Amino acid sequence: MYTCGPTVYQFAHIGNFRAYTTADLLVRVLQYNGYEVKFVMNITDVGHLVSDADTGEDKLEKSAKKEGKNVWEVAEFYTDAFLKDYDALNLTKPTVLCKATDHIKEQVDLIKRLEEKGFTYKTSDGIYFDTSKFPTYGQLSSLDQIKEGARVEINDEKKNPRDFALWKFSYQDGKSRGEILKQVQDDSLEKRQMEWKSPWGVGFPGWHIECSAMSMKYLGESFDIHTGGVDHKEIHHPNEIAQSEAATGKKFVNYWIHTAFMQVNGQKMSKSLNNTYTLYDLEKEGYDMLALRYLYLQTHYRQEMNFTFESLDAAQNAYKKLVIDISRFEDPSVSSGQVRPGIFEDFEKRFFDALNEDLNTSKALAVLWEVVKSSYPSGPKLRTIFKMDRVLGLNLQELSHQIRNAQQILPGHVQQMVEERQHLRKLRKFNAADQIRAKIEKLGYELEDTKKGPKVTKK
Ligand code: AMP
Ligand code: ZN
Repeated sequence: MYTCGPTVYQFAHIGNFRAYTTADLLVRVLQYNGYEVKFVMNITDVGHLVSDADTGEDKLEKSAKKEGKNVWEVAEFYTDAFLKDYDALNLTKPTVLCKATDHIKEQVDLIKRLEEKGFTYKTSDGIYFDTSKFPTYGQLSSLDQIKEGARVEINDEKKNPRDFALWKFSYQDGKSRGEILKQVQDDSLEKRQMEWKSPWGVGFPGWHIECSAMSMKYLGESFDIHTGGVDHKEIHHPNEIAQSEAATGKKFVNYWIHTAFMQVNGQKMSKSLNNTYTLYDLEKEGYDMLALRYLYLQTHYRQEMNFTFESLDAAQNAYKKLVIDISRFEDPSVSSGQVRPGIFEDFEKRFFDALNEDLNTSKALAVLWEVVKSSYPSGPKLRTIFKMDRVLGLNLQELSHQIRNAQQILPGHVQQMVEERQHLRKLRKFNAADQIRAKIEKLGYELEDTKKGPKVTKK
């Protein structure tokens, strides 16, 4: 399974992470069903131009200029930030996480294969894929809706508006910067920070080719599943199919999974509306990232989702209640040391039937709540819940145990002080919070602030 990963020139937003959460759920459900999943995700750390038509500024170079860093630093910084957020949402680690810049050779080789088979042509700014040579181009989408001059900008030298760049020259006609500077004294001819030599001239890959080159390297020329956001259905994925199948003559991918978009307050997420929330934006408001995960689970991946802070509040409350309810159940087989494997098969079957039917996560959550609310014995109830959570990924076992342990160790008045301190910290009243910390420590407890909140232990 291959997932189109992030372009690392800015923080990923909550819409992006919705798409990655679908990929994660799919891996977990397949694993539950007994499949071994080889899961590959790329990091686009190069040459992704502002428009889908391969024109405009390079997003990474632009971001580097703005932030006063070099492009490699920008890519590294946002890759690290992405992976940190990825972990906070409890998303399954890819078996292979591959960067475009580590696979320039594979991309050049694939373009060479296409060139040998006659699928390419050269313009003054790059090497292009000739879509007219690939008769089934765009099978995946209603491509007739893509009009030249709309999403795809006009480029005079392209033979067909849907043709796309495989390799872009840093400078016109693939000439070196030095050669051009000899002819024209143009100081505005800035040097790109990321560029490589190729048989066609110095430049950088077009942004579609990396996914074909890397997915085929790690998964073979034909593989099972490819995921991404629904926007990729129109251009990026048809281009991946065209260039892969033209090169190999084989079917590229068996199943395509596209996640619908997330809106914010009924509007498209956009910089100008200032509504592209990142995980950090939510975290600093005191939201738990697993509450965001819970929120994602409430909407089917093929349905558009509308994010509001009210819906996140509701998800956070429901999630907290879930963890607290579960922390009250006791598993007698654990305390007696005898492991009894019993679970409720009827609930489990309904839960997994829902997920196996195109990942119906909201129905699966409803079944989970039925188990929580049922009046059956708590031992098998807990085991059923924890098994379900292997797919839901809400850390229910760990968090409910933490609550139980905390309740067992901490007397009520200390717990109250810990909560009061948390409250003050949220209000940024750090002095008052520090005073409470001192009191807690005086009572003989050690307090450590962890990612998951304060951890209090007896000294
Ligand atoms: P990008 O870094 O722009 O390539 O986007 C990363 C992933 O997030 C891609 O699979 C996109 O299709 C997806 N994506 C972008 N915006 C949204 C959104 N608002 N809602 C859901 N998925 C999105
Ligand atoms: Zn891709």
